[in-house]
Amino acid sequence: MNKKLLLHICCAPDGSIPVPDLISEGWEVRGFFYGSNIHPLSEYNLRLEALHKLINHTGIKCEIMKYNPEEWLENISGLEHEPEGGRRCEKCFMLQFEAGALIANKLGCENFCTTLTISPHKNVTLINSLGERISSHYGLKWQNRIWRKNNGFLRSIRVSKELGLYRQNYCGCVFSHRDITNK
Ligand code: SF4
Repeated sequence: MNKKLLLHICCAPDGSIPVPDLISEGWEVRGFFYGSNIHPLSEYNLRLEALHKLINHTGIKCEIMKYNPEEWLENISGLEHEPEGGRRCEKCFMLQFEAGALIANKLGCENFCTTLTISPHKNVTLINSLGERISSHYGLKWQNRIWRKNNGFLRSIRVSKELGLYRQNYCGCVFSHRDITNK
């Protein structure tokens, strides 16, 4: 079986457990960072810097997409007022997985996975079912993982601290930022 795996890394702290775990399982891990959902640019830069720290620490190669928040906003148009966890997030995951699947095919990675399921705030059933659907459409094998199991989230906090990774306090987009500033 081809052991090349493209790992969608939503942010460095969330990747801090999946990347070394997958490497130790024998996967040839290649990272993928989407990023255009993140607002504002200063926040994107903080997350990118953290990602580079993770890349340097783990030694993986990572595909970083061009930052294009306008295109992301256009794609989620009409879903601006959805609550976090609703249809906007579903669309956001799909955009990220679709972009990742195209890159996986280009790089010859037959396997695809995401770090998103380490978060206690995310719907892991939805994420894994979208991942399965998109992987199957692109001829990839989805690696169904729930990284938050076995204290994955707490371990990611600890490792992120050790590596000095920036940890954000909101999911990423302008709407999730709006929701925390209005609290
Ligand atoms: S809250 Fe997070 S997952 Fe939902 S649309 Fe915004 S960036 Fe994407």
